[in-house]
Amino acid sequence: MEACVAVEKEIDKILSKFASIRENGSKNIEETIEFLSSIKPELEQAQADTEFNERQLFIIHLAIAKVKETVSRLASEHRDLHSSVSKVGKTIDRNFTQDYASTSFDRVFSGADKEKLLNQVICQHMYRHGFLEIGEELAKESGLEIHENSKQPFILLNEILEKLRHRNLDAALEWAQTHREQLMEQNSSLEFKLHRLQFLQLVSEGPGKQGEALAYVRRHFPPFVHQHETDIQNLMGVLAFIPYGVHNSPYKKLFDPILWTEICEVFVKDACALLGFSVESPLSVCVNVGSISLPALLNIKQVMAQRQVAGMWNAKDELPIEIDAGREYRYHSIFACPILRQQGSDSNPPMRLVCGHVISRDALNKLSSGNNVLRAIRTGQSVARLKCPYCPREFDSSEARQLHF
Ligand SMILES: [Zn+2]
Repeated sequence: MEACVAVEKEIDKILSKFASIRENGSKNIEETIEFLSSIKPELEQAQADTEFNERQLFIIHLAIAKVKETVSRLASEHRDLHSSVSKVGKTIDRNFTQDYASTSFDRVFSGADKEKLLNQVICQHMYRHGFLEIGEELAKESGLEIHENSKQPFILLNEILEKLRHRNLDAALEWAQTHREQLMEQNSSLEFKLHRLQFLQLVSEGPGKQGEALAYVRRHFPPFVHQHETDIQNLMGVLAFIPYGVHNSPYKKLFDPILWTEICEVFVKDACALLGFSVESPLSVCVNVGSISLPALLNIKQVMAQRQVAGMWNAKDELPIEIDAGREYRYHSIFACPILRQQGSDSNPPMRLVCGHVISRDALNKLSSGNNVLRAIRTGQSVARLKCPYCPREFDSSEARQLHF
């Protein structure tokens, strides 16, 4: 952000300079043109085959000098502007790091298998966003075999979503009715929300549609009475205001266009959950999180290089610093061992001690060896009792239980 501000400042300077040069330049040119026009009648008086008289020569010299002066002034201003423009380039170079190579590992994408995976992810992203032709072309060129089954759901979802964006609920309603049971199982209110919008569309068409709206309620709302009782009562209230115009009624907030944006989001979320897809494209998530993390990583890389601790960033699955990519990119809790200060992993999971304190398995193993064994020998116990590092409780290492997040 600071980098952007610094560059913007430089650009602002140029823009104001450019404006003033343009203003001055056109003023100068106009003045010169005016001067030349003013001397024209004088020179026209001269005969074609006679020499200029002294007065006319003087005027011509004066004109040449003036034009020369104007041109050289314009040229020098232009030169000046040019140097300022090239300064922007330098400011960009100074403020933005171009060497991103230091934060990436080449081997991540090398190898036929990994390339194939990458292409698959890109292809899936294209299908997901409705760019079917691009996805197909990529699959063809990269030799990917995409099964029709893996493509079909995305095609359907996109078609429905496109219609929803144009406030056409039919396709979405049909889809939701077909999948009613599964949607109910995942506690989705998608179908109800679709019916609600359909109903509201009817009532907003005025008194002519009152009967139809009422029939719609009777036909479609009964399955949702349990879950959405208050909402349905609210909707019934709208009916009373049809003759007076629902958009100026106390229920006008039900007609907020935001509900249409919301229904698209609900549809994508619930449909993806039902089909077992993540709501957001994995490729978008990776690119976004990567962009958010890059500045911090470049910074830490620089600091590590300065302090000559580059060797510290060796762990493959772990970053050298914690990066907060924001709430929307938080998916699950992680455990960091308070003793070894390491992030938990499959091979080093969190272990809950009998007292409730949690440490990593490596830390527990370290406790088991060392001092505790000596203590056991000293106190004559056959089994080494361990002491919790955080409270006085003693326990046997076999009593610790693995925690799963
Ligand atoms: Zn404890």
